[in-house]
Amino acid sequence: MNDSHQDIRDAVSRLCEAFPGRYWQALDRDRAYPEEFVTALTEAGYLAALIPEEYGGAGLPLSAAAAILEEIHRSGGSAGACHAQMYTMGTLLRHGSETQKQAYLPRIASGELRLQAFGVTEPSSGTDTAALKTTARRDGGGWRISGQKIWTSRAEHSDLMILLARTTPRDQVEKKHQGLSVFLLDMNHARENGMTIRPIRTMMNHATTEVFFDNVPVPAASLIGEEGKGFRYILSGMNAERMLIAAECIGDAKWFIGRASDYARDRTLFGRPIAQNQGVQFPIAEVYAQMRAAELMVQKALALYDAGENPGEEANLSKYLAAEASWAAADMCVQTFGGFGFAEEYDVERKFRETRLYRVAPISTNMILSYIAEHILDLPRSY
Ligand SMILES: Cc1cc2nc3c(=O)[nH]c(=O)nc-3n(C[C@H](O)[C@H](O)[C@H](O)COP(=O)(O)OP(=O)(O)OC[C@H]3O[C@@H](n4cnc5c(N)ncnc54)[C@H](O)[C@@H]3O)c2cc1C
Repeated sequence: MNDSHQDIRDAVSRLCEAFPGRYWQALDRDRAYPEEFVTALTEAGYLAALIPEEYGGAGLPLSAAAAILEEIHRSGGSAGACHAQMYTMGTLLRHGSETQKQAYLPRIASGELRLQAFGVTEPSSGTDTAALKTTARRDGGGWRISGQKIWTSRAEHSDLMILLARTTPRDQVEKKHQGLSVFLLDMNHARENGMTIRPIRTMMNHATTEVFFDNVPVPAASLIGEEGKGFRYILSGMNAERMLIAAECIGDAKWFIGRASDYARDRTLFGRPIAQNQGVQFPIAEVYAQMRAAELMVQKALALYDAGENPGEEANLSKYLAAEASWAAADMCVQTFGGFGFAEEYDVERKFRETRLYRVAPISTNMILSYIAEHILDLPRSY
């Protein structure tokens, strides 16, 4: 995506220079949140990229948000600490009321509030989202939330959460995706009224958590859109999320390719740079070809989206191809570095662990293959 939003790319790249490998290494060691990095991005306005100008944001297209995320990853950092503010934004923008937008968007744009938490996945339902068990039941003028979410990333660092809960019992709706609703949860209020957050330590630094709701009161004004239509609202943001994550994968792949090439040129063994061996060159070249093909698909998907379409096929293909390319690049990079690929100070092992996530979350590869099989190739539905 070198030919688009070059000014944004250059500016993000300059910002990232202040957050070099040793910054991310220290956080990774302590599983600490990149507070300074997120603040710098917020102050520069990048996390408000998708908020319309009338609400204090930059009003940029999705391709610009993708350029920002790609550049963060290409620079060796990780946008995992803050990317949800971009991919959850659509739910509020498309389905939120004018009152909700006026109340929250300017404060999110200014950095006063963070919308970083996305509470969809639950321990017993996983990928089978519509089988989730968290309930919101009517209580006076508002709602009471009970249940549990898992893998709710950044919950400890967010003021707001987009939450999906069941508002009509499963046995009272015809199809299981009916009767689910989306809430914009004020997490500070919820924390004082029965919501608890428990961090989950993972193989990479991702600030992910489990969230427990014990009869948490939520005002009526928190409901986004119409009651019972929440599953559709969440689905409507999935294509954008896939493209944004794909852009991060492209950034990762470029970082691995760049690092491997530099290292192979410098590392001299048997009297010549290891890069002179085709056994070292070819894996780098192969991954470069894979990354470029994936990048073209991401560009295509973004161009369609920016033109007003919601391209399911291209968004899914982007996410699949880019996550495969970044993982192939990560493996190639470790192989090129040999033993030093495992040493913390080179960042390769950290980025290797970080990029592995994208074949599982936010949507696993199998689910994308299933989408391609069923919706593009017209093969029988499997689940
Ligand atoms: C670090 C991290 C951060 C996350 N952040 C968030 C977040 O902020 N908010 C949120 O809501 N969720 C989040 N998630 C959850 C993530 O979206 C899920 O982990 C992911 O969708 C897979 O679901 P699961 O883990 O429940 O796996 P399962 O649904 O239990 O699936 C396990 C495996 O079985 C496969 N599988 C399941 N059903 C089928 C089928 N029908 N056909 C073929 N294969 C199948 C899956 O592809 C997967 O490989 C995060 C996860 C992680 C690990």
